[in-house]
Amino acid sequence: MDAMPGELAYRKLSFWHDTVPGSLEPRDPLDGERSADVAIAGAGFTGLWTAYYLKKAQPDLRVVVCEREIAGFGASGRNGGWCSALFPASLSKLDRMGGRDAAIAMYRAMQQTVDEVGAAVAAEGIDCHWAKGGTVQLARSAVQLERARAEIAEAREFGFGPEDLDLLDQDAATAIAAADGVLGGVYTPHCAAIHPSRLARGLAEAVRRHGVALHEATPVTRIEPGALVTAAGTVRARHVIRATEGYTPQLPGEHRTVIPVYSLMIATEPLPDAVWERVGLAARPTFGDLRHMIIYGQRTADGRFAFGGRGAPYHLGSSIRPAYDRVPAVHAALRRTLAELFPVLADFKVTHAWGGPLGIPRDWCASVGLDPATGLGWAGGYVGDGVATTNLAGRTLADLILGQDTSLTRLPWVGHRSPRWETEPLRWLGANAGLQLMSFADRQETRTGRPSRAADLFGRFLGH
Ligand SMILES: Cc1cc2nc3c(=O)[nH]c(=O)nc-3n(C[C@H](O)[C@H](O)[C@H](O)COP(=O)(O)OP(=O)(O)OC[C@H]3O[C@@H](n4cnc5c(N)ncnc54)[C@H](O)[C@@H]3O)c2cc1C
Repeated sequence: MDAMPGELAYRKLSFWHDTVPGSLEPRDPLDGERSADVAIAGAGFTGLWTAYYLKKAQPDLRVVVCEREIAGFGASGRNGGWCSALFPASLSKLDRMGGRDAAIAMYRAMQQTVDEVGAAVAAEGIDCHWAKGGTVQLARSAVQLERARAEIAEAREFGFGPEDLDLLDQDAATAIAAADGVLGGVYTPHCAAIHPSRLARGLAEAVRRHGVALHEATPVTRIEPGALVTAAGTVRARHVIRATEGYTPQLPGEHRTVIPVYSLMIATEPLPDAVWERVGLAARPTFGDLRHMIIYGQRTADGRFAFGGRGAPYHLGSSIRPAYDRVPAVHAALRRTLAELFPVLADFKVTHAWGGPLGIPRDWCASVGLDPATGLGWAGGYVGDGVATTNLAGRTLADLILGQDTSLTRLPWVGHRSPRWETEPLRWLGANAGLQLMSFADRQETRTGRPSRAADLFGRFLGH
């Protein structure tokens, strides 16, 4: 058998893993049969928050988490660090799914979740470089400005005011982030920039302190009612929770539940104060712009840019390999895009380049649920908005497991089931055509100065 990776390999996963304090050696692998009240597969934010809130609600509950690698190995340790109120389904889509009040309740719950994460990290003494500076989405063309206005109009229709989402003129947007060609933008205060690996590793320590049995280096081979099966032994439990997100297709029976789509990132060297004086981002708001192919960034606590975007290909059969974390062409494009946004960065060094798989359900709507008959539960399909959403998922799963009917268990994503993805090669064709369409739409809009219909087409394919 291959030796499990250790500290050195895990440090190389991302800038965040490279700079997180403490050891990254896997700890406490499972070494035999166990019984528990709740067994969880996966120690990303979903698994960890679920364990955390269960223990807070009922300290004598026996909670076991089995993680194939180390806590925070997956997307949770590698992401853009936007702890935001973004939810992958729009208000209009949630309205169609569960009605207007349900849509509003979902978005309000997300806003409260950002503050709940802030409160939990403060209570547990987790120094994840928390800075609640909001998010600025820049509009750098007339078409993007139109999109900004449409976003505001939708928010207003559902009763969200300027205190939630505000349209910025050119001066106001530039004062926050002095990017090239800014015409305006959208600002929301509901986001904190964090160091994601510090949150994941700190949370893992916290759940251990609260008495959760967290077994790293313990791959789950099968999930079934009453049992989490691993090569080292089976954990028998009334409730068994799947918290494996982008890796879910690797589990038996889950091949078409979500697709793993890679998001890639770079980090620059720490930049001098003179650069930051020209760039702005003083309160560390997270930032992006309103193009179709998503880009996202933050100013890190140690004065770097951490900057990412989609665009890496989906791999046939939903396959996941370490080699897919690094696509030189996509990393080079990210570097170019960052320098286009902030030309003052022309000569900066990129010190880290990495990536990881996130999970996308067929209808692009995250969900959480528990089947009371089988005791099987799940949460995931967050697309690129899981940092805060996993906390809401963890609190909701805790309520569901403890049999409580709460405002959280009535939210519209609870019990929602996305259709499954198509079989291959249709899945491969659809996912990669979608990625191509997004970048085609951006190029077309730059060329014509008019909104691209290609993006609408893709939206319709997804049922947006
Ligand atoms: C590059 C990148 C940037 C992103 N940026 C942002 C952002 O800025 N803001 C935001 O909100 N979201 C962002 N996301 C998405 C966000 O990171 C995820 O939605 C979120 O972290 C999902 O958490 P999770 O615990 O469900 O999944 P993961 O963190 O992926 O955790 C799943 C865990 O399950 C383990 N596992 C898998 N299979 C098994 C098995 N068979 N047995 C045992 N363990 C198993 C994995 O090793 C992993 O640790 C980003 C994602 C990526 C990849």
